[in-house]
Order: sequence, then structure tokens, then C-alpha cells
Amino acid sequence: MKIYNTLTKKKEEFIPLEENKVRMYVCGPTVYDYFHIGNARSFIMADVIRRYFIYKGYDVKFVMNLTDVDDKIIRKANEEKVEAKVIAERFSKAFFEDTNKLKIKPADVYPKATEHIGEIQNMNKKLEEKKIAYNVGGNVFYDVLKFKEYGKLSGKKIEELEAGARIEINEAKTNPLDFTLWKEAKEGEPYWASPWGNGRPGWHIECSAMSMKHLGETFDIHAGGHDLIFPHHENEIAQSEGATGKPFARYWIHFGFLNFQNEKMSKSLGNFFTARDVVNEFPPEAIRLFFCQTHYASPLSFSRELLGSAAKAVEKIKNFLFTLKEKSNQTSPEAQPVDLDFRKFYLDFQEAMDDDFNTPRAAAVIFDFIREANKILIGENPIHSEFIENAQTFLNKTAGDVLGIVPELEAAKQDESLADELINLLVKIRLEAKKEKNFQLADKIRDGLKNLGISLLDTPQGT
Ligand code: AMP
Ligand code: ZN
Repeated sequence: MKIYNTLTKKKEEFIPLEENKVRMYVCGPTVYDYFHIGNARSFIMADVIRRYFIYKGYDVKFVMNLTDVDDKIIRKANEEKVEAKVIAERFSKAFFEDTNKLKIKPADVYPKATEHIGEIQNMNKKLEEKKIAYNVGGNVFYDVLKFKEYGKLSGKKIEELEAGARIEINEAKTNPLDFTLWKEAKEGEPYWASPWGNGRPGWHIECSAMSMKHLGETFDIHAGGHDLIFPHHENEIAQSEGATGKPFARYWIHFGFLNFQNEKMSKSLGNFFTARDVVNEFPPEAIRLFFCQTHYASPLSFSRELLGSAAKAVEKIKNFLFTLKEKSNQTSPEAQPVDLDFRKFYLDFQEAMDDDFNTPRAAAVIFDFIREANKILIGENPIHSEFIENAQTFLNKTAGDVLGIVPELEAAKQDESLADELINLLVKIRLEAKKEKNFQLADKIRDGLKNLGISLLDTPQGT
């Protein structure tokens, strides 16, 4: 299995730290608002990668943090005149609702920054003892010149960064590139007591402290959107390796941007759609397929047209499963065993996914399979039950368990709103038929519905 590692800038063989185990950390949301469909791309692709490791038989520990104390949360809380905690709780809840709708598997742990203040402070103390961090009046900074490998992830050179950073010199820092580990409390902000006075953690240190707490000082995979390579992940490496002297995450995976109108979709630009709006418009499986149809690292443009095509493709999966179900009533053990090379489809799927999670190719294998299998299902002949079972298993294991693009078959039947709409349509047609004195058609509709257990009652207010 090969993974493109941002750290080495190479596609590398994946060798876990411990046999059969994968420890993976993904930077999660800052819970100050609903997340947008660009964030959803990163969360869904991380989910697909995790699911593929499970498919391969790995025991996966998957951790995603929630940043629940931050400038944006505090700003919103001040606007609404509530505590920061209220905002963080409201949008954490929304985050869980939305990820659930997107069929994202819950993480094994969702550490929150506010619940790891002790770990964060301990790391800062260690950095201070090692003289990698310094305190200026209650603000603790990381001294980037003390970490010789600073820039190794992003490929940036300290000299170039310094040249670019001149303009925003902060008097308190020795070097403009130094970043905050602990922020002194300001009026109206949440704070915790610390050896440096009341304050709160910087964003980067949260992820270092929480990932190491739950996955160990060295772990297998760290992932996040492309925007996090610098400075967030570069700083995480500096903090963690600076503190422990050991390698931090071994493989770094970065998700390409979802763009809209040729720019990265982002809150600050305002060019975004919330994931909750999009999942009300398109089935979650269609959204997932739309993302899987592009490699996780490549940029992708938000497109309703492509989401619509993905929705049609998902219908194809549903129809195929429906046909399999129907045919399962017509199986015969005497039927001719079917000549379809399941093994080859599994191998093709795995080969695609083993190649740096090539989901576009993996999805193509699934649709090739459906096309081939449909050829066998056409016609009246009984089908060997083994074929039905193998086809269901293949689809559930690949499209279902890994990509998460198999819709539930019962969905249509349970859809009460659809039934309501259909009944209303028939009521309207019946009314028009009556107006045109076509009583035969009107009665036919009423009797037909009655046979289905639906009675129509005509009242002065309507039917
Ligand atoms: P945030 O809440 O802004 O920290 O973002 C949560 C996750 O979404 C991070 O991993 C970001 O890198 C990722 N992300 C933000 N915007 C986009 C985008 N337009 N496309 C893909 N991933 C994104
Ligand atoms: Zn992070």
C-alpha cells in the first residue's frame, strides 16, 4: 500500500509503527459555526481512508479533535452575549448531526481543547525547560530558530519566511516567525490558571498535545486540509519533536481544496455552502461519490451538475441492489453457475485503493462491476443463489463499507413525504376529472386508493 507523504514529498510504502495497527489523527473543526461542504470534503476523504484501513484488516484508532476555544468562538459569543462554551456546545452538536448525515463514521475519540489544558500546559513547560519556548509577560512563544528542522514539512526556508514576515513584527516576539503557545487572558475571554498567569492555549499546541495524548508520541498518520500544512502542521511538528526529541507523525496526508468560483471555499471569503444545506439537496451517498470521483489531493470545484450526476450513479447502485433482491426470490441451486470473475474486481478495487487511495479508479471498478453483473441479471432465467450473495457482498464491502456510497434500499418505502405527495397528486387529478364530468376516472382513483387502504373524504373545505 502506497501513500503520498507530504513530509518526504514521495509516494511511500505504508509500514505501520505496530503491525496491523493504524493510529491516525485528523484536524477537526473549530466549532463556531456550521461546517461548509469544503470542510466536508476533508472529513469525508479522511473517513474513506480510515474505512479502507479497516477493510484491509487493520485495527484503526482514529482521533479527530474539536477546537472549542478560539478567537472566532469568543467573537461570536461576545456578539450573542453568551459564554464561549455555549457557542462551542451548539456547534459541536451541529457537527455531530451533520457528520452523521454524511455517513461519516464517528471517531474513536473526539478530544476537546478545553479538556486537555493540563496536557497543553505540560508540553509548554517542557518546551520552556528546554529553552525552546519563552515567556513575555504571560504570553508564551515558540522560538522557531531553536528547531533546526523548521520548514521540513512545508518546504519553506526560515530566511524566506522571515523576509515575508517583516511587516507584522510583534514587539513581544524575538522573531516574527515565533508563534503563540499560551495567550494571556484578555477582558471577557475564557481563561485558565497557569504558571504564566491566566490565559488560554494557542491553536497549534492543542493538536500536538491531544494527538500525543491519545496516540502516543510517535504515531502513523496525521491528516488535514492543504491549508493546514503551513503554519499549523509545521508548528505541530516543531512543538512535538521539540518537546520529545522523537519523530511525531510518520505519514502526512493533505486534502486538496474544494473550490467555488475558482477560489478555495472558505468562511472568510463567503463563497461557501453549509454541508447541512447540501445534504438536504443531495443524498449523502451522492456527495460522497462526488468527492470520491476526484483524487483526495487534487483540487476540485463544487458543481451541482456533477453532484446531480453522482446522484444518478447512486440510483444505479440502488436499482442494481433492488434487482438482486428481486432475483433472490427466483434463485435455483440447479441454475448454471455464473461466469463472473469476482476475484478480479476485488483485486482491481484494492489495487486502486492501495495506490494512494485512488478513489476515482476504485469507483470506476464498482460501476464496471455493476454493468457486467447487470448483463447476467437480465432475462427470466433463474440465477444461482451464490451469484446473488457474492454480488451483494462485493458491493457492500467496497462501495458500502469503504466508499460509503450504497443507499439504503428501504429508503424509498419509508419515505412518507413521497407517499403524501403522490396522494395529493391523485386527489388533484380526481378533482379535475370531476370538473370535467369524467366521473368514471374520478371513481377509479377513489376506488383504487381505497384498495390501498386510503379513503378520500369530500368536505366543503376540500378533499
Ligand atoms: P477549520 O474548521 O477551518 O479548521 O477546517 C476544518 C478542516 O477542513 C481542516 O482540515 C481544513 O483544512 C479543511 N478545509 C477547510 N476549507 C477547505 C476546503 N475548501 N476544501 C477542503 N478542505 C477544507
Ligand atoms: Zn490540528
